[in-house]
Formats: sequence, structure tokens, C-alpha cells
Amino acid sequence: MRLLIFGPPGAGKGTQAQFISKYFDISHISTGDIFREHIRNETPLGIAAKRYSESGELVPDEVTNAMVRERLSQPDVADGFLLDGYPRTPSQASALEEMLPEGAQLDGVLNMIVPEEELLKRLSTRGRQDDELETIRRRLRIYHDTTEPLADYYRDKGLLLDIRGVGGIDDITKQIIDAVNGRS
Ligand code: AMP
Repeated sequence: MRLLIFGPPGAGKGTQAQFISKYFDISHISTGDIFREHIRNETPLGIAAKRYSESGELVPDEVTNAMVRERLSQPDVADGFLLDGYPRTPSQASALEEMLPEGAQLDGVLNMIVPEEELLKRLSTRGRQDDELETIRRRLRIYHDTTEPLADYYRDKGLLLDIRGVGGIDDITKQIIDAVNGRS
């Protein structure tokens, strides 16, 4: 099972990804978590990513694509994964297609839909370093301008599964599981 979870900052991607990856027994790959880990450990990748990540900008595609390519070459993801926070640009989406094993396809793209006022409320109480109001606004704008158009790209491929990302966490998880099982 190869899934993407897609949605604006604060949509609950990370929370849902943990439950969903457990349910389908696939590895959860969060590019944001990988970047944060590298930044914490001050690796060369972390040093390259830090100023982008902390100001709410996207890390350049070449850096991000190389990191995901390396992660997807590991044996635990040969048969499936849940990618969280990637792809975020059209160039990342085409890079991902080239990274998949010969003949392999994505099984679904979970599109988490949450109203903007709810996102602002959640992000301003989360307390992460990139959750300052100005940074939040920048992240939402970049999502809207650069990442959101990818939803249509996956919708055209028949892969997009719209999920209403408000309400109880368990209800949202159930909605996702039903949507994925409905496809397969
Ligand atoms: P996230 O936790 O997914 O919101 O990611 C936190 C930060 O990591 C983002 O604001 C970006 O700076 C960086 N990041 C994560 N995923 C990507 C990606 N696919 N492309 C570029 N930058 C990313």
C-alpha cells in the first residue's frame, strides 16, 4: 500500500499518519520530522534545511528530493509507505514518480480538508518553533500557492480521497480507513 497524506499545516497529517501507518502496517515517512531530526543533530542536511524550515519556507527541491530518494531506497518501504508532507511542489511530484519501483503506483492520496480559521487556531496553540504568527501565515500562503494545486493533479489521476479533517481524531481515522478500503 503506497499512500500520501496531503493537506495544509495544522490539518492533522502527522497525527492521522501515525494511526493510518499502524493500521495498514506501513512505514510513516514525514519529511518535516526528518528535517527536524537533522536540524537537531546539526548534520550537513540539517544545516542546509534549517533557515528554510524555521522561516516556514520550503527546503529546495533538489535537497528534499535527494533525501526522500534515499529514504525510499531502504528495504522497509519496498512494498509500501505513507508519505507525510511530500510531495509539496510539482517538481517533487514528478521526482516521486521516478522513485517508485518499476510498475508500482500510488494507491491513494488523502486530502485533509480543514477550514483556514480552524488551522490558525490549531497552529497558534501548538508551540512549535515555526508556529509564530508571521511564519504560520507564510506557511499557509506557500501551501495555497504551491502545494494545493497538486490536489488537482492527483484528482485527475483518480487518486484523491477527500477527508473532512475536523471533529474527533478517531472519527477522522475511521473516515480515512473507509476511504482507502473503498478504493482497493
Ligand atoms: P512539516 O512538519 O511537514 O510542516 O514540515 C516542516 C518544514 O520542513 C516545512 O515548513 C519545510 O520547511 C520543511 N519541509 C517538509 N517537507 C518538505 C517538502 N516536501 N519540501 C520542502 N520543504 C519541506
